[in-house]
Amino acid sequence: MRDDEQGVDTRNQGVTSMEEELRNVPFECRGCWHVWQEDYVVRHSEDDHGNQGEVWLSAGLRVPPPSSGAICPQCGCQQATMFPYGYLTRHPELIPPVGPIVPDATPLLSPVPKPLY
Ligand SMILES: [Zn+2]
Repeated sequence: MRDDEQGVDTRNQGVTSMEEELRNVPFECRGCWHVWQEDYVVRHSEDDHGNQGEVWLSAGLRVPPPSSGAICPQCGCQQATMFPYGYLTRHPELIPPVGPIVPDATPLLSPVPKPLY
């Protein structure tokens, strides 16, 4: 008659209340349509009262949770939108190709305008 206790989670034995999860958050720039991902570590914690909290870390530093308004690394505008987590795994065509970077043979043209005189 104690079967109802089978639902009790015993996996937490010996485990601290803090868990870390790696998350890739995909972004897309509305200015230049650049798509990129940023790696975050999400630290889940629970205090003595059972309140759950999330701390977002980027490169080991505490950062605010990502949101729309991230700065595009390509054009620098702040019009980036955040995809739902896991979005790119369903849309792999959006991921920029990863691989050896082929040197661009095209010479860079200076954006500086020539003096008019
Ligand atoms: Zn951009």
